[in-house]
Amino acid sequence: MKRTPKHKPPGPDTIDALVRIVGASHAIRDEAEMAPYLIEWRDRYRGKAALVLKPGDASEVSSILKLANETTTAIVPQGGNTGLVGGQIPFESGHEVVVSLERLTHVRDIDLASNTMTVEAGLTLAQAQAVAASAGRLFPLSLASEGSAQIGGVLATNAGGTAVLAYGSARELALGLEVVLASGELWNGLKSLRKDNSGYDLKDLIVGSEGTLGIITAAVLRLFPKVAEKVTCMAGLDALETAPAFFARALERAGPALTAFEILPRIGVEFVMRHGQGTRDPFPSPHQWYALFELTSPREDTLLAPLAESLLAKGIEAGEITDAVVATSLSQSEALWRLRELMSEVQKEEGGSIKHDIAVPVASVPEFVARANRLVELMIPGARPVPFGHLGDGNIHYNVSQPPGMERAVFLSNWEALNAAVHEIVLDLGGSISAEHGIGRLKRDLLPHAKQKIELDIMRKIKAAFDPNNILNPGKLL
Ligand SMILES: Cc1cc2nc3c(=O)[nH]c(=O)nc-3n(C[C@H](O)[C@H](O)[C@H](O)COP(=O)(O)OP(=O)(O)OC[C@H]3O[C@@H](n4cnc5c(N)ncnc54)[C@H](O)[C@@H]3O)c2cc1C
Repeated sequence: MKRTPKHKPPGPDTIDALVRIVGASHAIRDEAEMAPYLIEWRDRYRGKAALVLKPGDASEVSSILKLANETTTAIVPQGGNTGLVGGQIPFESGHEVVVSLERLTHVRDIDLASNTMTVEAGLTLAQAQAVAASAGRLFPLSLASEGSAQIGGVLATNAGGTAVLAYGSARELALGLEVVLASGELWNGLKSLRKDNSGYDLKDLIVGSEGTLGIITAAVLRLFPKVAEKVTCMAGLDALETAPAFFARALERAGPALTAFEILPRIGVEFVMRHGQGTRDPFPSPHQWYALFELTSPREDTLLAPLAESLLAKGIEAGEITDAVVATSLSQSEALWRLRELMSEVQKEEGGSIKHDIAVPVASVPEFVARANRLVELMIPGARPVPFGHLGDGNIHYNVSQPPGMERAVFLSNWEALNAAVHEIVLDLGGSISAEHGIGRLKRDLLPHAKQKIELDIMRKIKAAFDPNNILNPGKLL
């Protein structure tokens, strides 16, 4: 059942007053000009809006929400519009107002003693990484969408990526937030404390709330020492069943130096080699599975290469892996990572793809994949599972490509039924139906099956306490 929230459209007076807050040159009323804010990048979601507003600072965001709350105008916060669950796109009613944070791009502070930077929400993730690098530090959050995704967006979705294993997801990287609440009040929580046990953690509540509890306008982010030495390795495996043991071995021997551990199936590597320009198989013969992992250190003298070599040798001896390559140059490292980074993109070339972004305990990943693969074959014979992703976090992107030759639309008509059946396996294994991408519109109706009633009740009460008029991203998440 798809529910669309019922908010009245803002009247002409409200629209004029909202436009006056940001100035006419930062408001879009024309439908064609609004288009980039109303269409999701894959064209999976298209919406309509009464208005797009681009405030220039937190006080303008505050004035917008104050007026929206008084007039019960629905607001859709938007960052880089790279979200994968439709949370940033308004519904089709045309009654909502999109608030884009793209003009909030100031770097307010860099504090090298505290190892923090305070940046505004509209800075892109790539810009934030560059700011950290120019201060001689590392901001480790890294996603394929980092050129467009904004700090506010990655915090609102608690984004993950490939470095979660060592540094945590967006939540772990934010020490403080500045947030405009639905009432228009500004909460200045821009603290840079590593320890603060003075009551409920509002910062943690806002992170991952997908624009439903407040609009993030700035954040204090943690910085880390720059990487001085790095070794990228790829191992070939006969079966996924041995991957958790090899991962445990890598973690035990390398400790915090193990900063990424990804798995790729043979079929995914074949797709990449077929469609990804300039890619090649790093091994002389094929393997069923591949583990791509990286060791890094802030010191140059840590001899990571011998550590990687001995780890790989022990893994082969124990029968966990069958072959391995170690990148000996930056370009070789980039070539290995390219196999992983293109994995999602190349699936488009193989026709329709039904996706799942799930997490299960690391040890249960092989059982999950085996059960899900059997299910896919039963439900859609000939469909091609391409499970890949962050084994170190138990987070698998369980994508399924259509059988060759099948009509794309016919295959995609199985989306909801397949999602439901795969999610049942996930829940049976104590997992989550959304590891990284959030709930948004895509998974909102699945949430009641995936959460306990008591959890949903608490979430609804929190939403009502923060946003009693339900003006912030109504119909998303809950
Ligand atoms: C190619 C690609 C690769 C990706 N890889 C990963 C990955 O590895 N890991 C991962 O976790 N995600 C990944 N994502 C999805 C990821 O969620 C987003 O890229 C990113 O976190 C969203 O940032 P954004 O600024 O684009 O937010 P948007 O898409 O604009 O918004 C996302 C949600 O956050 C809300 N929001 C946005 N800004 C604010 C704000 N300032 N205050 C309050 N709410 C706000 C919106 O209302 C919406 O609900 C990927 C996406 C793409 C396209």
